[in-house]
Amino acid sequence: MNTGKGLIFLGPPGSGKGTQAQELSKELNIPHISTGEMLREAIAKQTALGQKAQAYVDKGELVPDELLLGLIEERLNEEDAENGWILDGFPRNVPQAEFLDQLLQKLDKFSEQAINLEVPDEVIIDRLLLRGRKDDNEATIRRRLEVYREKTQPVLDYYRQQDRLSSVDGNRKLQEVTKTLKTVVA
Ligand code: AMP
Repeated sequence: MNTGKGLIFLGPPGSGKGTQAQELSKELNIPHISTGEMLREAIAKQTALGQKAQAYVDKGELVPDELLLGLIEERLNEEDAENGWILDGFPRNVPQAEFLDQLLQKLDKFSEQAINLEVPDEVIIDRLLLRGRKDDNEATIRRRLEVYREKTQPVLDYYRQQDRLSSVDGNRKLQEVTKTLKTVVA
């Protein structure tokens, strides 16, 4: 039974996926789930997860899967995620995508759609330097882009092969991108 909508926002750091996910989350009334946000919160509170994750986040490396998979499973089982959700920053590698598929098969109620926000590298670097988060310094940005190419790009192929990927030009005004996204997910 496919009742809910599971949207997976892919795209490099700085592609605007967090902002767009937030907009669409309000529009569709489904939660915006950002693993980066969850990790930053855990780090700020210095929880056990936060302490383990901090060095990876600071360096722009992926946090090991075993720290995140249980967290995502719990989050997707929460009540507000019953009718759908927007995932932002997960899956970041193919094993995470496979884990998500298995999880959703168990829940048996979602049709997943992956969306790739396309933005050229030079625009990304400018945007990230302007944003000024702790992990937005030039060395970490460079590493995050490399990690994106190595680990996350194959996730695009994973969804493309299953015919579940839509690509949207993210190098436009915020409102124009939102407008396109609304038609793509409708
Ligand atoms: P983001 O806010 O999505 O740019 O994520 C910030 C940082 O959190 C990333 O550079 C990673 O260190 C970590 N992170 C977020 N999501 C994941 C994930 N799905 N798998 C591994 N690490 C992640």
